Amino acid sequence: PELWSDHFNDFICKCLIKDFELRPNVLDLLQHVFIRQILGRERILQKQLMELIDLNQQIGTTGKTRHERIHTKKGGQMMSSSPTPDEVEDLVTLEVLDEQLQRRYAKDQIYTYVGDILIAVNPFHKMELYSPQYTKMYIGAKRTANPPHIFAVADIAYQSMVSYNADQCIVISGESGAGKTESAHLLVEQLTVLGKANNRSLQEKILLVNNLVEAFGNACTAINDNSSRFGKYLEMKFTCGGTVVGAQISEYLLEKSRVVHQATGEKNFHIFYYIYAGLAERKKLAHYKLSDSKTPKYLFNEHIKLGPDIVNNTFYKEQFDSVEQCFKVIGFTLEELGSVYSTLAAILNSGDIEFASVASEHQTDKSNISNIAVLENAASLLCIRPDELQEALTSHCVVARGETIVRPNTVEKATEVRDAMGKALYGRLFSWIVNRINTLLRPDTHLGEDDKGLNIGILDIFGFENFKRNSFEQLCINIANEQIQFYFNQHIFAWEQDEYLNEDVDARVIEYEDNRPLLDLFLQKPMGMLSLLDEESRFPQATDQTLVEKFEDNLKSKNFWRPKRVDLGFGIHHYAGKVIYNAAGFLSKNRDTLPADIVLLLRSSENQLIRKLVTHPLTKTGKHTWPNSNSVFYVLCVQGDTGTGETTHHPRESTNMRTQTVASYFRYSLMDLLSKMVAGQPHFVRCIKPNNDRQASKFDREKVLVQLRYTGVLETAKIRRQGYSHRILYANFVNRYYILAFHAHKEPDASPETCAAILEKTKLENWVLGKTKVFLKYHHVETLNLMVRQTI
Ligand code: ADP
Ligand code: MG
Repeated sequence: PELWSDHFNDFICKCLIKDFELRPNVLDLLQHVFIRQILGRERILQKQLMELIDLNQQIGTTGKTRHERIHTKKGGQMMSSSPTPDEVEDLVTLEVLDEQLQRRYAKDQIYTYVGDILIAVNPFHKMELYSPQYTKMYIGAKRTANPPHIFAVADIAYQSMVSYNADQCIVISGESGAGKTESAHLLVEQLTVLGKANNRSLQEKILLVNNLVEAFGNACTAINDNSSRFGKYLEMKFTCGGTVVGAQISEYLLEKSRVVHQATGEKNFHIFYYIYAGLAERKKLAHYKLSDSKTPKYLFNEHIKLGPDIVNNTFYKEQFDSVEQCFKVIGFTLEELGSVYSTLAAILNSGDIEFASVASEHQTDKSNISNIAVLENAASLLCIRPDELQEALTSHCVVARGETIVRPNTVEKATEVRDAMGKALYGRLFSWIVNRINTLLRPDTHLGEDDKGLNIGILDIFGFENFKRNSFEQLCINIANEQIQFYFNQHIFAWEQDEYLNEDVDARVIEYEDNRPLLDLFLQKPMGMLSLLDEESRFPQATDQTLVEKFEDNLKSKNFWRPKRVDLGFGIHHYAGKVIYNAAGFLSKNRDTLPADIVLLLRSSENQLIRKLVTHPLTKTGKHTWPNSNSVFYVLCVQGDTGTGETTHHPRESTNMRTQTVASYFRYSLMDLLSKMVAGQPHFVRCIKPNNDRQASKFDREKVLVQLRYTGVLETAKIRRQGYSHRILYANFVNRYYILAFHAHKEPDASPETCAAILEKTKLENWVLGKTKVFLKYHHVETLNLMVRQTI
């Protein structure tokens, strides 16, 4: 973009006009395409470019003069060959939708419905849409009575849960910075109001949960100042009567590598800066062995070079107070809080431990710690002995011919061990906090025998990512998105259409982009990408190079390729676009080993929290009972993997820690998440990012179109218009709605005739009776529910 000066612009224009005789309007478009290409979104733009060049050539061959060509355009004759009717229909629909979104966006109407899916376009400025007045307006209201709103989604989920006595699940998707996390907050706020939390403190606690986990799990990235670096599934628990009684969170795939390294322009997890500034304010830095003049290495980046930058930051100080308040309100003890701070400070201190190479008699690659004072600080915060920490960092044990031998670590190896310790401590601390929140917010068991309770889950998972350099983290994130998209497709398209067939209901089949081949590519066993990665991770001699070669030899898919000229590179054509990954570091990231020497040492800590973090393996394992016919699990279930953990035996003593590769843990997490989601009736919120600059009132049409296309919003709109999104068994339908046509004391039988009688009485149109179910449009249910409420 910097290159695109006016001068350059003129130059290009002249060349194009002179050499290609381009028409000015094509020229305009071409410039647009060039700019975009520079910005790096090639695929669609390349297609556009080809089309334009084609178009120009076709016009060129007609032999018209440039003047005539311009004239032809003015006559409205843009396309030289007429498109097929289908193309027109798609294009028109797409343009109408995106035009409509743009028009609404200009008026600050950021929400739009496509069928029963809510599209939320990020406003990038504060909106007057969430005041108590709005909260009230959307409670139990008919959807058409108010403008589209995120609160309406909360309301529908809540009303459906209470009406059908069924769990619900709200899936929020969109790319990074599109507004998922904000939407999740708003949903929780509205749901706590709807759930009439009868004790205010519970309501307050639930609202604070997000703030707390986000302080630890979010960070400033190049794209979003508050980017979630983990996936979160928050379940709000209700009684069958609809009173909120608790909450539970599950976290997925925290990006631990951020603790020890951040890409250019990015920062570490928020909490590190908050605690640093907060402790300074309270004159407690020295207590936690932190300096107010020197920035810890793990926090050092181009924005923050000096400790005072953090220490004097009032925003960080306020955030620290707020996080501490969250901890206290949710119910953490002061002792626990102290331990959390010590652990964070220990991570920062250990990051500053430096190693120097020392020559010894037999080996030249030994390392030593060059700043013992820092080592002592880290050890004291971890409540372990410094000499033992030094030993665990600079040496390791191996068993050779039955004998245990202590081998020195090179500087490189020692640094790796140090960073592995930081990452492991942080990851486990995060999981511990989440578990502790879950204990504190678990519903009391006073629900009564029959009341098993209901829940509404809210999924806020990291969006699809495609950076300049994409590593293992992006691969996992994108696989998760691929799986969520598959679930969306299954739910919206496949299951719905199966049901029409089974019930002999006539409805048009809608084509959709099935991303199943991609899930096969990643998750199949034994030849899927994750299995191959695990297999290669088991060979000590394997390298990232042998890994990509293995991928190349075994992955037979048109969605996988090896780009030329990119060392260790491989490309994947995801449902949302092409991504080039770099396999450097894949093996070590997947193995994610914490040396047994470190585990054993930390277990000897005098700090109870540190001991806990390394004693209980926090990796999840366990068996699920899988639903039989849910094809969303097909890929995962057939290969049924619930953690292929191997036990490592330490030569000195068994550490009894299950080590699991990140890939197999990830596979398990995905299944765990889907099993939760499938158990509930889903509602979808699609967040759209209107521009890449986080600017208010800027609607980049091409950017929005790409998002609308790959998420299948248009196909969804079609199926929602033509299909029947609610299919209710006769008995359930009669039970719920007979009151609309019969006396309350009557008990009509659950026959199709009764259902027809009820529906005719309500004067609704376009419903269908299948073999066992009533087929309704999404808006029918709303009207029916409202009528019931009015009748009662
Ligand atoms: P995601 O979770 O999808 O990465 P976020 O929810 O963190 O994105 O949103 C990124 C930023 O966009 C927020 O920090 C906020 O500034 C802005 N934003 C998102 N949704 C809204 C909204 N409804 N109103 C105002 N600003 C919003
Ligand atoms: Mg987020």
